[in-house]
Amino acid sequence: MKKSASRRTTTRHPKDSTRRSVSSASRRTTPHTKYLFVVGGVMSGVGKGVTASSIACVLKARGLTVTALKIDPYINVDAGTMNPTEHGEVFVLQDGLETDQDMGNYERFLGQSLPAKNYMTTGSVYLSVIKKERNLEYGGKNVEVVPDIPLEVIRRIKTAATDARADVALIEVGGTVGEYQNILFLEAIRLMKQEAPADVATVMVSYLPVPGSIGEMKTKPTQTAVRTLNSAGVFADLIIARGPVPVDDKRKAKIATFCNVRQEHVISAPDVASIYEIPLNFEKDNLSARLCDLLGIRPGPSDLAHWKRFVARAKADRSEVTIAVVGKYFTTGDFILSDVYLSVIEALKYSAYQLNLKPKIVYRSSADFTDGKRLRELDQYDGILVPGGFGATGIPGKLKVIEYARSKGIPYFGICYGMQLAVLEYAQNVLGLKNASTEEIDPTAKDLIVHVMDDQRQKLATGDLGGSMRLGEYPAVLQAGSIARAAYKMGEIVERHRHRYEINNTYVDLLTKQGLVFSGTSPDGNLMEIMELPKAVHPFFVGTQFHPEFLARPLAPHPLFTAFVRAAYESK
Ligand code: GLN
Repeated sequence: MKKSASRRTTTRHPKDSTRRSVSSASRRTTPHTKYLFVVGGVMSGVGKGVTASSIACVLKARGLTVTALKIDPYINVDAGTMNPTEHGEVFVLQDGLETDQDMGNYERFLGQSLPAKNYMTTGSVYLSVIKKERNLEYGGKNVEVVPDIPLEVIRRIKTAATDARADVALIEVGGTVGEYQNILFLEAIRLMKQEAPADVATVMVSYLPVPGSIGEMKTKPTQTAVRTLNSAGVFADLIIARGPVPVDDKRKAKIATFCNVRQEHVISAPDVASIYEIPLNFEKDNLSARLCDLLGIRPGPSDLAHWKRFVARAKADRSEVTIAVVGKYFTTGDFILSDVYLSVIEALKYSAYQLNLKPKIVYRSSADFTDGKRLRELDQYDGILVPGGFGATGIPGKLKVIEYARSKGIPYFGICYGMQLAVLEYAQNVLGLKNASTEEIDPTAKDLIVHVMDDQRQKLATGDLGGSMRLGEYPAVLQAGSIARAAYKMGEIVERHRHRYEINNTYVDLLTKQGLVFSGTSPDGNLMEIMELPKAVHPFFVGTQFHPEFLARPLAPHPLFTAFVRAAYESK
């Protein structure tokens, strides 16, 4: 059977055009666009992405059109080939690019989808420069790391800003100042500032440690980071001072003196209980007004009323709903990595807040359940979620967990692999196809309930594996009377995908006769997009081939997550 689904119409990369000067790279820029760069000082992991997202949020609340870009220093052309335990979640954009999780933060804090052109890596930048060179687009000239790489970065930034008709384009430079890896991005900032000094500003997100042995907040690492930034020809206009506690006036004055910024341009950003408080904290320091001032923008009044209501709900003390996320990418040495499932976890929170519930999210490794001896531990959870994943590791444990949730009536939500495995479990234990498998794990199995998609077979055979899955937005139609249809309150939806395998249609009739409902399919009926059990059989047993978590937003929770969390709470 021919598998197809309506293709997207968006292109993955802007059409290339090669010029070798900053001003010609900018020829399509609308005159009003301002560029705000965010760089990191001292060390990584201090929340630069969330800080950049919060800046985007407070600027948008001023009535400005804001777009956000991320530049990552990796040679990887996109984030799709990176192991999530190394790099965190792979966030998929609507037009299918696999990106860094910060793109997800921007989308959530801005409440808007961002296009593929808003994300670039060193690898993708080099790739387009080399393609142009092979295409003789440099007219016989030497193509050089400087200026041609920074100019390509600038071209991309300006294209993204222009296409978004942005008043402000916020660009986060990955990595930490002083690393060899991001020096060409700093060069792009320098060139843009040189070309249009009034249109470009730089924010440095730095860290101020409070060493336990001294008990005093130290500013020296930040001073050193600023000097390193200066040596690249870039000057910080504003410093966001991250730290375990607020920065006092004495240290603000010190930073101002030694880092060459105005004291009111040193913004304190202490650790907070919820990242969603950050925009509100920033506004206590008048951050958006100060940034507008730096960029020469006359700001409108700030309207964060909806955001404030959301934060208030998030902080309120309510009855708890406990959800176990059963995954396999949690542990690294002695540490737990919840970042790998970031969008899923945030989506659960938004839905719980909307329902006036307090989410308690527990991370469970599927390996705990492989031998089936600890399954009763699952009784303490109101709902179980199995997120996306790849490969054979951890699968026996996940299948046992799904069987337990199905047979004990514990609300279950399976995403992507979590849906494929739920259908597989049903085939094994309800249809009695004991040796059924997925082609991803055992291609020789007799009953391949999940198999590779037709158009993916060739890619697997030739090793064309980067950015080649079924990625990004595709439509699906929903069956009347289903849980999915009731949750979405509409008959046709569009959701983001990231998979190479699919439910094998040969088994769909058999599964359906035995009670499983495929309540969402591609419009041509060929791809199974949602599976569920009727409410009369199970309070909530739903799986999606797509990733609904990528569309969940603080101010617009995802309807399927909300239906799941509600069912979990009601089954308490
Ligand atoms: N490994 C499965 C596939 O490629 C599921 C992918 C996912 O969960 N994102 O189809």
